[in-house]
Amino acid sequence: MAEQAKIRRIKKVAPRVRSRLKKDDLVMVVTGRERGKTGKVMRVMAGEARVIVERLNVMKRHSKPRGPQSPGGIVEKEAPLPISNVMFFCERCNAPVRVGIKAAADGARIRVCRRCGEQLGNE
Ligand SMILES: [Zn+2]
Repeated sequence: MAEQAKIRRIKKVAPRVRSRLKKDDLVMVVTGRERGKTGKVMRVMAGEARVIVERLNVMKRHSKPRGPQSPGGIVEKEAPLPISNVMFFCERCNAPVRVGIKAAADGARIRVCRRCGEQLGNE
């Protein structure tokens, strides 16, 4: 009976998304509280359909002092944004754009701007 009570609560997550965004991409937030701001992708959380963007959606965390290594205080930390709220920001178009996939001359798959055709990212 004790085992029955130990049913783990599994966090409900969005279905894994196939995003064309990668770490270090420049993105613009197109909707929500941070709309219109641009930043660099720090992490793509595909399993949760979220991205963490540098210096955007910053939350204040009040942490308790836990010894000399962590003195506590108010820590500012980026919270994940829904991945659908951001779009790749093309510097050539100076606009948020959709990402296309194209085969390069050597057969490699490269990401391109759907608007100007420029190669995106630096892989
Ligand atoms: Zn472009």
